[in-house]
Amino acid sequence: MNSVSTSASKSRTWIENHPAWLKVLASPHPALNSIVAIILGIWMLRTQLSDQAFDDTNRVLSLVFALLVGVIYWSFVEYAIHRWIYHGRHRNAAWKYFIDSFHIYHHRNLEDPRVLTAGPLMMLTLGVLLVGPLLILDLDFATAVALGFLGAYAFYEWVHFAIHRFAHPERHRAYLRYIRRFHMHHHDRAWNKNFGNTSELWDRILGTYEKPENSSSH
Ligand SMILES: [Zn+2]
Ligand SMILES: [Zn+2]
Repeated sequence: MNSVSTSASKSRTWIENHPAWLKVLASPHPALNSIVAIILGIWMLRTQLSDQAFDDTNRVLSLVFALLVGVIYWSFVEYAIHRWIYHGRHRNAAWKYFIDSFHIYHHRNLEDPRVLTAGPLMMLTLGVLLVGPLLILDLDFATAVALGFLGAYAFYEWVHFAIHRFAHPERHRAYLRYIRRFHMHHHDRAWNKNFGNTSELWDRILGTYEKPENSSSH
């Protein structure tokens, strides 16, 4: 482990002192997030898209483009939260006490499944804060971005859960074997590298990519 991990404070975090909040802030399984995302997605498809959304090829193509924007948007948010919030250098002690409850706690306690998956509350909060403002542009565009964002988010939760909980990693499909090595390199060797969780895209662009070495089998 590098110096970042060894210098990390071992003091208890907020969630360790208030574990009842895990019921609100964490999810016991990524399937719960997926169910909420699907219900929300169906609601958006039925109520938010305009009657003309599928009228011609150009409109359909622009919806597909917006969907992809949402997927890439989530992948950046995934990277940014991990790098600058979860692993950020927080000077405010109260904020650090709170924010270390989730990801830093996960780093220190890889076997604890309770904090592997954020609860739907975080998904809804991020969606409202980060996709909501797009409503000023165009309702169809914002809806399609939101669908891509939600889908990519639900996928991310499954990937992180699978990396740490699926048995027999040697039998994983190629993508999961690859992304597992990439993420476990972050856990085992370099807390300041490989912040992406579903791809190495933003690590490559922003200079934090490190080639994974053989890592543990958590
Ligand atoms: Zn992890
Ligand atoms: Zn991390």
